[in-house]
Amino acid sequence: MVFRKDNGKIFSTLQPKKMLKKMEEIVKQLNNTFSNKSTEEVLKYFLKEYKGEIGLSSSLSYEDQVLTHIICSIDKTAKIFTLDTGRFFPETYSLIDNTNMRYGIHLQVYFPDFKRIEGMVNEHGVNLFYESIEKRHLCCQIRKIEPLKRALKGLKVWITGLRRSQSVTRKNMKLVEYDKDDNIIKLNPLINWSEDDVKLFVKKNNVPYNRLHDKGFPSIGCQPCTRAVKEGEDIRSGRWWWEDPEHRECGLHQRN
Ligand code: SF4
Repeated sequence: MVFRKDNGKIFSTLQPKKMLKKMEEIVKQLNNTFSNKSTEEVLKYFLKEYKGEIGLSSSLSYEDQVLTHIICSIDKTAKIFTLDTGRFFPETYSLIDNTNMRYGIHLQVYFPDFKRIEGMVNEHGVNLFYESIEKRHLCCQIRKIEPLKRALKGLKVWITGLRRSQSVTRKNMKLVEYDKDDNIIKLNPLINWSEDDVKLFVKKNNVPYNRLHDKGFPSIGCQPCTRAVKEGEDIRSGRWWWEDPEHRECGLHQRN
């Protein structure tokens, strides 16, 4: 296999440009190798090869619950973490508990830096995100991106529940990507799954899910930035609905 644990040591001696080129080659080879494999096969390989250096960032979405289910069937000790922004729905907190109980695990919860939250809220108000894209990004930066960077520290592979068909901003994503900002391999095992595939898996395997999904919320984030959508509307249209569709990302997956 082309991408092994010791690659990091080898590449750390390379110049940034050469390193980027090398990582792009590796990612290309990994995509060729794994594109026809099942999600379980992909996860089995990466969880074994990167034991202790791989983690799922879970937003408790349908997709992340599917991944949690599969990961726990392979290795319950694998790192699964969530970024508690402090603005979640009560249903999301209940789901953290239910997931821990169902799989006998402890989701690792990362919180934002309280001093930065205090500074932001005292300067711009509690609901600053409605005022401008810049202020919305500031809030996502402090509540999500900074804790994510802490959570990813020491990891070589970051597992995500991204699917290509989720939104216009995700249509070009691949199974394996290189995130050069964090110097980490991003693994998107559900990249080719449809919304129906995900729902069917949840139903068939009795996977715990956010009850808001039954109330018209296909995609769930922070309470003030998420609303229910109507039948037939884009599944991400309830997130930051006051912004243009191409801006509707929190920055976790769009820093390349
Ligand atoms: S989704 Fe909304 S409340 Fe949550 S971090 Fe981003 S701007 Fe802040």
